[in-house]
Amino acid sequence: MHAPRPASPLLLLSRAALVSALVVALATFVSPLLAQESAPATPAGAPGKLRVVSLSPVLTDFAKEIGGDKVDVVGLVKPGVDPHTYDPTPADAQQVSSTQVVLISGKGLEGYLTKFRQAAGGKATWVDVGAALPSLEAPEHDHDHDDDHDHHHHHHGADPHWWHSVANAKLAVGVIREAFAAAAPADKEYFAGRAAEYLEKLDAMDKEIKVALADLPRDARKLVTSHDAFQYFAKERGFTIIAISGISTRDQPSSKKIVKIINQIRADKVKAVFYESVENPKVIAEITKETGAKVGGSLVADGLGEGAASTYIGMMKANATTIVQGLK
Ligand SMILES: [Zn+2]
Repeated sequence: MHAPRPASPLLLLSRAALVSALVVALATFVSPLLAQESAPATPAGAPGKLRVVSLSPVLTDFAKEIGGDKVDVVGLVKPGVDPHTYDPTPADAQQVSSTQVVLISGKGLEGYLTKFRQAAGGKATWVDVGAALPSLEAPEHDHDHDDDHDHHHHHHGADPHWWHSVANAKLAVGVIREAFAAAAPADKEYFAGRAAEYLEKLDAMDKEIKVALADLPRDARKLVTSHDAFQYFAKERGFTIIAISGISTRDQPSSKKIVKIINQIRADKVKAVFYESVENPKVIAEITKETGAKVGGSLVADGLGEGAASTYIGMMKANATTIVQGLK
């Protein structure tokens, strides 16, 4: 089996990690019985399938779309769970120790990563998807640079919420396709075909969102949300963000900051403010009471939601619909 090594500059894998992934893939191919015997009894152990663990619901969805029935995907961080405060369990480490590929959302979202990797051990290839995508800087919130820096939080550097840009999502699909092809070269064409189909669906979704947002005049494109998760969306769609908290759901606003936001909403005549499905909407209630802005509904900020929003495409469409209905 002399599969050429796929050299992808997008994959920031160490040479050693890539080699070990190929070795694992080869061992599984040559001796499936042995692999079955030595593998611990985990739900992710179906023979002949690439075993993948994902640390983000969005990546779990991408992995299923690209991997189809050639891949077993286990999502550790479930939809509705706050990824900023997630704490991996020993069972999570167990899953990782017997998997072949681990998908990381990256850009600092998984604060637990270093410790978790050490705890999990194993021979998996860790694919930092976010590291291959362009970053927006985490903002300091106050463009007028006054003395209102209420939290000097730990999120200097990149904003981790890259998936709210469809352009980034498409790049991420490419990263995962290459990672799967490297780990299971025999199924390379299969992954490529499924990824191409999914990219077409993402393009169709992007067009739909553009059409929906066309109803909103430029000066209505102001998004007031609980935490600062929609910068990538804002940049791609021409919105301004007025975030109540910081980049992490851990950052809580001061009363001074809330007063400032209330004044800005009044001055800009913002019609609606939005809360997030993993957030406590108490501060939002206070702001709507003070400004007369309505509650525009719930946005899915940090992963996937329920029902129609339980897929990436569904989540993106649901957010766009909620925003248009609230602001028009
Ligand atoms: Zn977030």
